[in-house]
Amino acid sequence: MFGLIGHSTSFEDAKRKASLLGFDHIADGDLDVWCTAPPQLVENVEVKSAIGISIEGSYIDSCFVPEMLSRFKTARRKVLNAMELAQKKGINITALGGFTSIIFENFNLLQHKQIRNTSLEWERFTTGNTHTAWVICRQLEMNAPKIGIDLKSATVAVVGATGDIGSAVCRWLINKTGIGELLLVARQKEPLDSLQKELDGGTIKNLDEALPEADIVVWVASMPKTMEIDANNLKQPCLMIDGGYPKNLDEKFQGNNIHVVKGGIVRFFNDIGWNMMELAEMQNPQREMFACFAEAMILEFEKCHTNFSWGRNNISLEKMEFIGAASVKHGFSAIGLDKHPKVLA
Ligand code: NDP
Repeated sequence: MFGLIGHSTSFEDAKRKASLLGFDHIADGDLDVWCTAPPQLVENVEVKSAIGISIEGSYIDSCFVPEMLSRFKTARRKVLNAMELAQKKGINITALGGFTSIIFENFNLLQHKQIRNTSLEWERFTTGNTHTAWVICRQLEMNAPKIGIDLKSATVAVVGATGDIGSAVCRWLINKTGIGELLLVARQKEPLDSLQKELDGGTIKNLDEALPEADIVVWVASMPKTMEIDANNLKQPCLMIDGGYPKNLDEKFQGNNIHVVKGGIVRFFNDIGWNMMELAEMQNPQREMFACFAEAMILEFEKCHTNFSWGRNNISLEKMEFIGAASVKHGFSAIGLDKHPKVLA
């Protein structure tokens, strides 16, 4: 059995969804009420893969919302309680979606193994980041040529290069694609220096320097919503892979020769018959989902019950190849640009 732990993109959104689902007791509550709300198992589903393997799974809403990020103890409790619920339901492999994996790592939740009378078994959980990184690389390789960008001469900026997903993307780009140049962007110098050393390549730049040079920008950092990017400073054409969460880059660039792909999203070959991705506002909610969620499904299809993506900056090329091949085999594909992207010179 696979599990997905998710959350809403905002408090307002969470209240709206709770009301739609009939959870009236919390739908009307203020943020303090939501801070004490327990996780909810929202939906059970059965899924059949492209090669005919059937699996069962559940979606658990952690009742966390991004407005709680500054409330350290609340955020920690939300993630751990949702993991406890997944384990108590006997789920073999559960993906930590949205901010939950970041909270797990950044708040060092490994030291909180005991939740009431449950001792959390880490092998039952995955961040899903290996599949997300592989999907983002596929999206880059498949979509750049569609808008006239030749990978061999392309400059690619990875914003969030030192993160778990970003570092894996950089490893893949340097070793598996013949891109022209790789620009490494993040705020802290020391991790950038070690990444550059590990890769034996890449040029460290700040965001303002990197953007005007990049033919392709991979966004794998949670950037502030208020961040302004002047489209006039970008190359045209430019491919933007919006791998951060929440995804809001397409709103910023409408009407330019700048093409935004929703990064880290996959499409299943068949309708799944679930409601959970409507809550996640996917364009085709019966087939589309976050790649991190799909990782839990793929691991269940493969009967690979292990914390496949775990810790920080451990994603190897071999693991990316394994999860990528399994993803394709079971019927997932990376979403790309629309067939006829709007190009204005
Ligand atoms: P990490 O916390 O491991 O890494 C974040 C990276 O972003 C670091 O390199 C950090 O470095 C950098 N960063 C943060 N803020 C800025 C900034 N203002 N300017 C430049 N760099 C910045 O995160 P993950 O790799 O786990 O996740 C990355 C993103 O992907 C998140 O937004 C996450 O929510 C999203 N995600 C999306 C999924 C999907 O769509 N399918 C699935 C899983 C995650 P520094 O602090 O030095 O700046």
